[in-house]
Formats: sequence, structure tokens, C-alpha cells
Amino acid sequence: MRKIILSLGLLIFVFFSIPIIFTSRKVQITSIETNILDNIGSQENLENQNNIENQVKNDYDYKKYSKIKLLHSEENKIEEIGLDEYLYGVVSAEMPVSFEKEALKAQAVVARTYTIYKISNNDNKHKDADICDDPGCCQAWISKEDRIAKWDKENQEEYWGKIKNAVDETQGKFITYNGKPINAFFHANSGGATETPVNVWGGTEYPYLQTVVTSGEDAYSQYHSELLVSQKEFKEIIQNVHSDFKIDFSKDDCIEIIEYTDGNRVKEIKVGNLNLSGVEMRNLFNLRSANFKITMEEDNIKFEVIGYGHGVGMSQTGADSLAKQGKNYEEIIHHYYTDVKIENM
Ligand SMILES: [Zn+2]
Repeated sequence: MRKIILSLGLLIFVFFSIPIIFTSRKVQITSIETNILDNIGSQENLENQNNIENQVKNDYDYKKYSKIKLLHSEENKIEEIGLDEYLYGVVSAEMPVSFEKEALKAQAVVARTYTIYKISNNDNKHKDADICDDPGCCQAWISKEDRIAKWDKENQEEYWGKIKNAVDETQGKFITYNGKPINAFFHANSGGATETPVNVWGGTEYPYLQTVVTSGEDAYSQYHSELLVSQKEFKEIIQNVHSDFKIDFSKDDCIEIIEYTDGNRVKEIKVGNLNLSGVEMRNLFNLRSANFKITMEEDNIKFEVIGYGHGVGMSQTGADSLAKQGKNYEEIIHHYYTDVKIENM
């Protein structure tokens, strides 16, 4: 099992941050076409995760983050931008403006923390820039102009004000563990329980990222999704990566979930002659999460998926659900990140 995970670690690219909106990819491997909103993350494998953790420095000078160098990925241009101005663009790209104000504030603090962590653990990934605007790599970002253009005219001022207030009212606040900024992972919908990073990427545990339970996430559209693939497609997709894959669909036990994680995701699944991780199945079939049920329906294989994203850290819909239950942004942050402090820059 361990051997399998380790070898998969080299092959599997991971999902890092999962913004709820803006990224749309059509999956057309099914007879029933399914639209899956997702973004593939910064694609760090187990080794990179460990390196990043080792690179954490102790000598932070938070004042230096008042301006950051943002790489616009598509234009390949670097813009120097004030941190708060940058965060307006991140919050409005990462979370629907219709979410509760306290959820938006939590997102602002999480995005600020994520930014500081990225900069202070800069592995020269973007050369002269601190961070990029590609949601598949760092965090999503949208300019005020582009953001506002997507809203109805009569709402533009109110909506932008709501985003701006979420950032301004939490100005300078960021999350620390043992005096250092945390690696503030977040995702769209936890399906009710978050996941520990070791079950997603392997590598080191983060003491502040534990499995926590949130109620009310089933009320969001990101909670449930389905995918139907034909037996032929199922076989081809796995064989693309594992050429030795064999399966006899006439056998009752040809597909069997062996083990679940504490966060209710598939840890190990037997498919034909192979044992795969739930994360690899998620990647192979572009599932929204590794929390899935798998059943045979005549000549098709049906995945029923709960939650959206890798499941680590703050759930965005969970944050909104907690805010609706009366929690403030600090309580939301303490719910998702264990034993952390919220400090001022
Ligand atoms: Zn980036």
C-alpha cells in the first residue's frame, strides 16, 4: 500500500485551491455529459510539499508585503499592486458575492495568509513576481473592471462595496501557527468533513489542518455531482496510465472500495487487478472530489460524488453555512484551522 502511494506520488498531480467560480471545464468522457467546475492546483507532488515546509523562514517583515508583484499569467506581465487591492480581486474571484459577509471576511483573511505564505516561501517559481493570477497555480484574481462588468448595473456598487469591506474590515489580519503564517489551503465544498493533507498529497502533516465537520454544506450546488462512464471508457482511461490494467466486469467484486479516510473520502479502491488511491481515481476521472460511491448501471459505471475540491482547510460553502448559523469570520477560521491565531501584520 505504502509503495503504491509513493509511486503514485510521482505521477499524480494534485488539486490545490478550488475556487467556486470562473473555471469551467467540460468533461466529455461520458455518455451523460457532465459539466465539472474545477481547477487543477499548483501541481505540487509529495516532494515539493516537503520542500515548501522546510523552506519556512523565521524572519518575516510583514511591512514588506504592502505591495506585491502580481504576474498576469495570460499576458505574462508583472504588475506591482497594493496588497489590499490585490485581495479585492482575489476575494471577488474566489467567492460569490452573494455569500455572507462573515464568510467573505474569512476568505479575505485566508487569501491574505495564503499570499504571505506564498511570498515568504517563494521558490522562485515566478522569477520576478511574488504570485500569479492563475487559479490552477496560485489564487484566482480578477480586476475590478472585469469583475464589475459581470454584475448587473444596479448591483455593481453594492457588490463591490461588499467585497471591499470584507478586505478592509480585516485589514492586516492573517493566520499563524507557532508564530508563522499557515499554508492556508481552501476548497469549494468539503461534503461535510474536511481532509488531512497527508491523504491528498502524502508528505508531512500540518498540525493545524485536521478533519473537521461542518453542517449545512448539502444545501449548495457544489455538494453533489454524478458521472457516468461506459465500461469501455472506464477501461481506457485507467489503461492510459496503467497499461497492465485488466478488469472483468462480469465479476461482482471487480470494483470494491477497500478503505476510507477519516474525512469520508476513498483512501483505497480495488479496480480489476489494481489497487488505486481515491485521489488517483479523482484525477483520472476528473471527479469533483475523492468522496465518491461507485456502482454499475448496466454497461456503465456511475460515480456519485460528494463535495468539491481536495477538501483540505477551509470549505468556502462551509464558511458561508457557518456564517448563516451566526458564526463570525474569526470563529469560521478557528473552525477550519486547528489551534491557530489571527494576528495583525
Ligand atoms: Zn502561481
